[in-house]
Parts: sequence; structure tokens; C-alpha cells
Amino acid sequence: MQQKLLRSAHYIELGSYQYWPVLLPRGIRLYTYEQIPVFLRDNPYITDGYRAYLPSRLCLRSLFILSNESVNIWSHLLGFLLFFTLGIRDLTVVLPAARAAREDFVICAVCLFCFQVCMLCSVGYHLFCCHRSEKTSRRWMALDYAGISIGILGCYVSGVFYAFYCSKYWRQVYLITVLAMILAVFFVQIHPNYLTQQWRRLRSIIFCSVSGYGIIPTIHWVSLNGGIGAAIVQEFAPRVVVMYFIAAVAFLFYISKVPERYFPGQLNYLGSSHQIWHILAVVMLYWWHQSAVYIMQYRHSKPCPEHSVDL
Ligand SMILES: [Zn+2]
Repeated sequence: MQQKLLRSAHYIELGSYQYWPVLLPRGIRLYTYEQIPVFLRDNPYITDGYRAYLPSRLCLRSLFILSNESVNIWSHLLGFLLFFTLGIRDLTVVLPAARAAREDFVICAVCLFCFQVCMLCSVGYHLFCCHRSEKTSRRWMALDYAGISIGILGCYVSGVFYAFYCSKYWRQVYLITVLAMILAVFFVQIHPNYLTQQWRRLRSIIFCSVSGYGIIPTIHWVSLNGGIGAAIVQEFAPRVVVMYFIAAVAFLFYISKVPERYFPGQLNYLGSSHQIWHILAVVMLYWWHQSAVYIMQYRHSKPCPEHSVDL
């Protein structure tokens, strides 16, 4: 018995001197950075706590053990539940109370569905990246990237729909542009080199461009509504700025690998950049959902001005 316990125990390093034994289910053990296959080596500052070489069944079971992916998995699993609950609440309580039209229901459902897909793709990747087959791991990684695009699409659909609520022409122009852009990103993602280390920079550039594109409709929306001084702009523009601020901070953590870069091996389980990126992603999507509900209620309480038909 004693031997069995020792065999399945793994010692987690917390700080420099503390070691905590953790019992793991049979068949799952944790590895150091040097022990994992090359395709899993992405962050040398995370030195231990890796799951690797697992069949699908054990990948799923690893949900219940403490590894360096635990926070990544659970943060987006809870994120999924959050957006699922918000979706049910919006469709049954918030929208009927605002006397919303059928198209509001559709936009709300699409937006929250996109957020949920984004969260689930991320959970899938962080759960199955440790699969013994590199091909399977890569497929989940591709799905994770596709999920980010879908999450961005959800933000654009709701944002454009309500920002250009009174100018149907521009609403269509921007919705079509955004859809075309996301479709183009999907096609790039199919390219065999997309997931390689060499394309790492290009991947970041693509996601920054797709997110940054939103500045164009935002500036256009400000000018259509009478400039910075207009009441509606004063009310909603700060929400867009906050959204971009959260996105920029999240991306900086993601790309820089701070803080683990300065504390290699000490943030293996808690506090690493990818975990901060995950939490900020949930905060950002939640913030955007709240803003969309706010502008939806505003639009239903104040009808469009007469001249807006020509905009
Ligand atoms: Zn992730």
C-alpha cells in the first residue's frame, strides 16, 4: 500500500522550499518540461506539472487532478456555464422585459452561442492537448484558434447590430465585412503551416488585425452620431474603450509570458500568464455582454431619430 501511494504521488513545488504530495489517478502522472514531447513545449518558464502521453479517456479524467492546465480548463468551463446561464436569463427575462423584437432575440442568441463555443473550444484544447497522438493534440489546438475567431465574431455581431441600429445600410455593410473577415481567418487556419512555430508571429498579427478592425466601425459610428460630444457617444464609447483595454492587457500577458518569465518554475500551477489571459478573456466577454444588453435597452427606450433612415 505504502509503495503504491509512493508510486502515484507527485510532488508539487510551491515556492522554493515547500513540497506538497498530490495523489493522481492510476495511469496519469505529471512530467517536467524536459520530459514532455516537443509539440507540447511552448513555455519553458512553466517547468513542471505537465500531463502527457495520455489516451482520450485519461485526458478527460485529468480534469479532476491538479496540473499546470487545471486553472486554464476550469476557468473556461466556468466561463461556458456563465454565458450559458446569461443566455437563458436574457432570452427568458431581460429581452421580454425590454419588449425586444424577434431580431434582438436572434442577435442575443447568436452572440452568447459564439461566446459559449469559444469557451468550449478552449476547454477542449487544454483538456486534450496532452493526448498521446500529436495529430489529435494539433487538431484541438486548431479548434482553440477557431473558437477565438468565433468569440470575436460574437462581439462584432452584437456590437455592430446595436451601434448601427438606426442606419440599416451601414449595419449590413459592417456585418457582411465582419463575416467575410472571420471566414477569411478560417481559411488561413486550414493552411498546414498555420500551427507551426514559424507562423507564431503571423497568428498574432492576424488576431490583432481582426480585433483592431473594430476601430473603423467605432470611429464611423462616432461621426454618424455627431462626434465625441454627442450624448449617445459619451455613454457608449467608454465601454468600447474599456473593452479594447481589457483585450490589450490580456494579449500582452499572453504574448510576453509575464509573470512566469521572472519567476520560472514558481508559477507552474497558479498565476501564469495563460491563466491571466483566460480570466481576462471571460471578463472581457462578460463586459461586452453587459454593454450589449445596456445598448439594447437604450435602443428600445429611445426610438431612432427621423433622419436616421438616410444615414
Ligand atoms: Zn488557452
